[in-house]
This record gives sequence, structure tokens and C-alpha cells, in this order.
Amino acid sequence: MLAGIDLGTTFSAVAAIDGKAGLPKIIPNREGSNITPSVIQFTDEGPVFGSEAKDAFDAGETNCVSTFKRSMGEDKPYCSINGKDYTAEDLSALLLKRLKEDAEAAAGESIEEAVITVPAYFYSKEREATISAARRAGLKVRKIINEPTAAAIAYGLNHWRTNARILVYDLGGGTFDVTLVEMKNESELNTISTEGDHYLGGQDWDKRLGTFLVQRIREETGEDPGKNQNTLIQITRLAENCKKQLSQKQEAKVPVSLPNFGHYIIEVKREEFNSLTADLLDKTGVLCEAVLRQAGVRWTDITDILLVGGSTRMPQVPEYLFKLSGKKPISHVNPDEAVALGAAVQTTLKDPVYTTLDKPDLEKAKGRSGLNLSAPAGQEKKISNLMGIRVSDVTPHALGIIAVSEKGDAYINETIIPANYPIPVKSARAFRFYTGSSGDNELEVYVLQGDKRPLECKIPCKYVVSGIRRGKGGKTTLRIQYSYNGNGVINVQARQEDDAVDLPIRKEPVPDDMSKYGLPPEQKEFMAEKTSVFLALDVSGSMSGKPLISAKDAMCSFVEQMDMSVTRIGIIAVSDQSRVVLSLCSDARRCCKAIRDIECGETGFGNSADPFDDILKELGHEEGRRFAIVLADGVWSHQTRAVRAAKACHKAEIETAAIGFGDADKQFLRDISSSDANALKVSQSELSKTFGKIAQTMGSSNSGKFGKKTDEINAETWETPEL
Ligand code: ADP
Ligand code: MG
Repeated sequence: MLAGIDLGTTFSAVAAIDGKAGLPKIIPNREGSNITPSVIQFTDEGPVFGSEAKDAFDAGETNCVSTFKRSMGEDKPYCSINGKDYTAEDLSALLLKRLKEDAEAAAGESIEEAVITVPAYFYSKEREATISAARRAGLKVRKIINEPTAAAIAYGLNHWRTNARILVYDLGGGTFDVTLVEMKNESELNTISTEGDHYLGGQDWDKRLGTFLVQRIREETGEDPGKNQNTLIQITRLAENCKKQLSQKQEAKVPVSLPNFGHYIIEVKREEFNSLTADLLDKTGVLCEAVLRQAGVRWTDITDILLVGGSTRMPQVPEYLFKLSGKKPISHVNPDEAVALGAAVQTTLKDPVYTTLDKPDLEKAKGRSGLNLSAPAGQEKKISNLMGIRVSDVTPHALGIIAVSEKGDAYINETIIPANYPIPVKSARAFRFYTGSSGDNELEVYVLQGDKRPLECKIPCKYVVSGIRRGKGGKTTLRIQYSYNGNGVINVQARQEDDAVDLPIRKEPVPDDMSKYGLPPEQKEFMAEKTSVFLALDVSGSMSGKPLISAKDAMCSFVEQMDMSVTRIGIIAVSDQSRVVLSLCSDARRCCKAIRDIECGETGFGNSADPFDDILKELGHEEGRRFAIVLADGVWSHQTRAVRAAKACHKAEIETAAIGFGDADKQFLRDISSSDANALKVSQSELSKTFGKIAQTMGSSNSGKFGKKTDEINAETWETPEL
């Protein structure tokens, strides 16, 4: 049997398609009740569920837990009972197991697979935790769907209207969701846009009323109930009761027993309750209007407002919505059961396939108006053939990545998948990335929920992409792909350049302090370090002809291999004198021209000078990494002096390499180099290769951590196995 399960914050329910009628039906629990409180009591005999657990909880017993769904996906324990820690996922696994057992007993069949509902506003992590809890309860998860979508499916069964726009207003115990759904054609149900608040539900109404009761008691009796833990627990429970009474009557009587005052009755009028909680309703109104705005519609375009969730039983809800919209909300579905019934229908439906979103589509999608408003709403009818319905859902929020702006002056949120886009969907973007020479190049991916600036978004997860190979000139292109699967679970992949293999990627905790992403980025976060290089070329007589030509070729190809956006190169000609023929310059063409223009003997034909004083003068005060590459041929006249001047450069942390050919003396090359490895004796034909190697290893010591936005490069999506 396939089941639909509404795993609620306060109540849960299970439904399945009834074989004979082909319609969804609630499967009662072992107490015969259609809904099961989402409460667990831990006793010496094991966990207790159902009304027994809820009664114990309401009586204030401390071995009970409820509303754990609000903390779904959190790694830290939700509670600790009898010395044992439980996360929300652990508790949900226990509850799901119980729901499964009860339903199997009632139906006389085992449940192989289930569709489980979650609030539309559940984040990826919470969805993953829900899937994991179900697996631990022995359930195979066919699909995770959004509660409002499930409610709309249930509603659609009996009230299908062609081209109708239904606003599903779901106010439960702990969460609020509002979703605009479109019934298109005969059988297509599309979610258009959705919004919600994770921390807004019936409990907040209870809390308001609780605080009010405490104040009243203090004012009227002089007793402070805050002093007595038992009285406080009692008041919290009474508040919910009082709220429910006020759904039936204009006035409720709340009986309180106080330690020094005895029994005492507080009267609360519905009007009082309404004004105490008016701002909570306003919060829901703001979200309703956001949903309409995103879909590009007005209240007059809405066909029906559908009420779901136990808290919509408060009369203030339909009254408020009527004032806001001019429409009488309908409550044709049983708010406690609709979600499970819709989930049961979903068990019979086919999954939509992935759409891919390339950059031009992304731009269009951001400004998308979701609804086709031309057609008038058609006649209401029942659906007879479930198999024919097609249901599509959307991303509840945009997903972006922290990147560095094109100018390099800010961290930005680069949207990869827009909000309210039909799922499943995947989309990829390309970023410029700077690699270091050390070989541990890593990119940090912070997933942002929402399309505001990085710090104004929720940052649900951080990934680190590793194994990035060094690119030419230290630069490379990284392609990052986000996918939102049909369950609303996010996956992140990365590839380098045009490579067809995914780079290794791992999850890391999001740091507590993210404030630096509100400031301008430091260059080292997204760029190679600034590099200054001086090339000194021996122009003495022995270089004339072929040697000088090969040396110039090698030096020019070196210039071409450097990333000149972070490198400056200067040129020295040296023989009997040393002369700076080009000061530090970041224009590759000018560097090459200066190299080409050097003539043999232009500073004399002998070797009485060395270039190190000039190198020190030109590089000594530069910031970032500094290098000198000296190309020598033969033997210099004043070697001791040259070595002394070279040591001054080493002391100033100028990394010095000496390349010698012809009669160059290997020991001398070592002495003027800043390390033995930098002393290279090569043949004339190897010069270009040697310079090429130096260019390769001269990469920055640090690699960037962030991708830089660039519009030059586009990325296509790619196939990856589903997790
Ligand atoms: P969830 O889906 O979050 O588990 P439900 O949709 O079952 O929540 O709604 C539970 C909430 O509805 C609780 O806060 C409960 O107090 C409230 N509720 C249930 N019945 C009523 C009623 N008659 N009047 C007002 N609130 C109610
Ligand atoms: Mg619910």
C-alpha cells in the first residue's frame, strides 16, 4: 500500500487511496481517531503516543515532547530525556514509525512507500531530515510534497474549476504558509508562488493569551503566577483551551487555581483576544500580499481563498481575510485531514521531469509573472480520474551563491535558481577563480536563500569545492550547478573549465560570524596576490646573435604566460652597466616590445656590472610577491660584489632565480639565487621551457576562496546522478 502522511507540528494524519472508490481516505489510528497528536511521552516501558501522550503533556509532565517539527534539520538535540538526547529527526522517526504501524494495523496491509508533506517553507536541510526520519521509521519515501499543494489537491478533487486561482492559507500550530495555486485546463494543478513564516502559528496566539492571563491575575488578585511553575504550565494549557472556546463563543471562562487565592475565574472576550493578536494576523496578510505580488495578480484575480490548518478555525482569520480581499474564504476541506488526503492522491501521480535554466532564461524568470489571467474561471466539478492530474510545484525561495562582484569591490548574491520556479530544476553559473601554486586550491560555496544581499539572506549551508587544478596564468573558470529536486532538496556540484568530471565537494558548518561578507572583500579572497617581476638580461658581447634571440623569445613567452591583471614586469639590460629599460609595467605588449628592442652591447660588451642594485631599488618597496630572474651567460667580472648585492635582494625577500647557459658558473648561479633550486643551468634550446616552468610555479602562494562574477562566460547545466 502507498500512504500519504501529514507529519504535522501539532497533529499528524495518514491517508491512502481506497482501492474500490479510487479516492483518498483517512486511515484512523489505533484509538480510532483520524488525527494523532504529534506528542511523545517517554516512560520506563518505552515511548507512548496518541491522546495519552498529549494528556500527559498538557498535565505538565516533564517526560513529554511536542512541536519538535519546528526544529527539524537541526543537528543539536531537541531535548534530553532520562539522560538520552533526541534530535527532532530522532523524534520524528519514532512518531512516523508509530503512524506507520497504526495505519498498517487498520488497513491490514503493509505500507511500502509514502508521500510525506512538509511546510512549503521548509528548507532543504529540513526536507532531508524528514526523508531520513522516514527511512529510519522503515518507510520508503516516494516523494516529499508541500502541505499547501497537498491541500489544494484534496480541494481540487471535489471542486475542480478550470482556470481557477486558489490562494491556500495554511495556519497550523507552528508554521504559516500561503501559496497561490492555479487549476489549469481539466487536470493541471500548478503552484505559482509561495511564502511563509517558520515561526508563526497557533502557538503564538496561545502565548499572547497566556501573557494576558498572567497580567490579569496579577492585577486582580495581587498574586504573581510567574512565581509558581505549576501555575504557569497550567496557564499555558488554559490559554489554548480558551482560544478554542473563543472559536465557538464570544466569551470564554478560564478557571485558574492559585496557591494563595484558591479557585479563580478569568473572563476573556473574543474582541479582547482579537485585539491582542491583531498584529499576528497582519503578519500573515503581508505574506499573502507578497505571494500575489510575486505572481503579478491582485485580490480580484483570486477565485477562492482556501483555509487549511487548525488555526484557521479562529473566526478572526476569515474575518480578516474578508476585510483584506473582499472575498469570503472557503473551508470546504477539513483542515485537519486535507493535507494527508492530498498526499495520498500524490502517491498515484507521475513526477515531472527536470527543467534546466540557462542564463538568459534566468533573467526572464526573475521578472516572471506566473499566471495566465485571460481565461475566466470555469464550472466547478468533481474529478473522477486521479491518474490524469498533473501537479507541479515551485521553489519556495531563490537560491544564490556568495561571489565577488565584477569590479571586485563587494560580495554579492549571485542568483542561480530564482524563487517560484517549477521544480525539479537545475541551473549553472560560471565564475572566474584564482588558483595558487600550493596545490590546495579550494572554493567556498555559501548557499544563499533569497535574492537579497548576502547577509540579509538565510545561509543554510556551506560547501567547499576542492581539487581545483592550477589554471593558465593562475586563472581558471569554475562552473557551479545548483539543483532543486522534486522533493525540494538542494544539491550543489562544481566543475572546472570544460571538464566533464565533478570536483570533490564537502559540507562544512556555516561559520557563526559572517559579518565580513557585508564588507568589501580583501583581494586575496578572490585574486592571486600582486606580483612584481624584474627580468635582467645579459647583453654582453658573448650574447650576440642566436643566444640573445633565444633569450628574448623565452622572456616574451614568459610575459605571455603571466596573468597580467595581477602581475607587473620590469626589464633590465646588464653588461658593463646596468640599465632599467622598462619600469614595472602591467601591459604585456609594452613588456614584449621592451624586450625585443634590447640590443646587444647597448650597455657595453663586457661584464663588469651586475643588476642587483637596480633590482633592489625597483622592487625593494613594492607590495606583494617580488621576483627577479637573471639570465646570465659566461662569467661576470666582479662576482664577489655581485653576490653581495644579490644577498641584499634576498634579505629584502625578493625571490631570485638565476638562469645560466654557455660558460655560466654553476656555483656563482647558486650564490646569486635565493635558493639552490632557483639556480638553473640550461642549454640555449631549453631556455623557453625553463622560463615556462618558472611562470607555472610563480603562481600565488594563496589561492582565492571565492569566484568572481563575470558575464563573459556562461555555463550549461549537466547531468548528475540523483542522491
Ligand atoms: P500543524 O499542521 O502545525 O500540526 P494543525 O493544522 O493541526 O497544525 O493546527 C494546530 C493548531 O490549530 C494548534 O495551534 C491548535 O491550537 C489550533 N486549533 C485547533 N483547533 C482550533 C480551534 N477550534 N480554534 C482555534 N485554534 C484551533
Ligand atoms: Mg498541518
